[in-house]
Order: sequence, then structure tokens, then C-alpha cells
Amino acid sequence: MEKQLLVNKNKIKYNLRKSRRASNIRLCVRRDLSVTVTLPWCSSEKSAYQFVEEKYKWILDRISYFQKNKSCIAEPNRADYIAYKEKAREIVNKKLAYFNQFYNFSWKKIRIRNPISRWGSCSEDGNLNFSYRLFFLPEELQDYIIVHELCHLKEFNHGAEFWKLMSKTIPNSEEKRKAIKAL
Ligand SMILES: [Zn+2]
Repeated sequence: MEKQLLVNKNKIKYNLRKSRRASNIRLCVRRDLSVTVTLPWCSSEKSAYQFVEEKYKWILDRISYFQKNKSCIAEPNRADYIAYKEKAREIVNKKLAYFNQFYNFSWKKIRIRNPISRWGSCSEDGNLNFSYRLFFLPEELQDYIIVHELCHLKEFNHGAEFWKLMSKTIPNSEEKRKAIKAL
């Protein structure tokens, strides 16, 4: 659902979604400048716009940050994209098989795509998605991203239990999380 809100003369557009697995309200500004508010299933829409109102300065800051930093990895041509995608898929398959020896979770589909700002995601119905750009990362960061999404199959949010699961196979998660954010 696309929504709009006027805060101090700034028009803020955002997508509103509800999630059964969100326990808190979440706000996300992506590199494509989209703003998404995720509400826990039983929260009212009113709490979403109150939240946006409260955070509008941060939202505007993120948007201008992304506008200034458009230096993302250059888009490859179609043939290269397909080749990178296959290489990324091999890495993901191999590493999921390896790390899942320690977790034993099950997933549905694995998709390699080209999301604008994310490295990976785990859908509510158990599909794992990864960016083809994973192929270009150092191996320890690939591991972090793959295990991160793998652990979301069990722990949907980033609570203490989630990090405990991650620490089973990934040392220094926090450091790696920062390294990825800084990319
Ligand atoms: Zn996550």
C-alpha cells in the first residue's frame, strides 16, 4: 500500500506493509529511495504515520545520503549479469549445503536476483533471495550474508536468539555486519 504524509512541508511517500513476523515497527529507506514501513500484524495504520512523523528527519537524511552516493557497482550488461548470477548461485548452493549441516533448516526456493540495495532476504514463506553481487564479495562476507538469511528461517527478527544462532558458525558477526554496511 502506498501512503503519503506531509510533515513540516515535506512530502514523504512510503510503502506500508504488515508482517506476521515483525514484533516491532520497522522503517527502511533503500538505495532506490523507497521508504517502507513494516507493521506488526495487529498494529493500526495510525501507528505507522506517527512513526514516520517522528522519524521524518532521519528519512530525509537517508534519502539525501543515497542521492549523493550513487556510486553503486556499475550495472553489467545482460550476458555478464547472467554469468555472474550463475556463479553467485553456485556459491550460495555450496555454502548453504555446508552451513546447513550445523542448522538443519529447510527452505523452499533460492533466488539470485538484482535487488537495488539488499544483499539477501528471507521471505515469510521460506524462500531465500540473494543478490548476484554476492559473487564480488570477499568470502567471509559471503558467509555472513548466507548464514544471516539461513538463520532467518528460524529467527525472523534480529533478536538475541538470532545472533546466538549466527555465532554458531560466524565469528565476529558485528564486525562483518559493519563491513557490509560500509560497502
Ligand atoms: Zn536480517
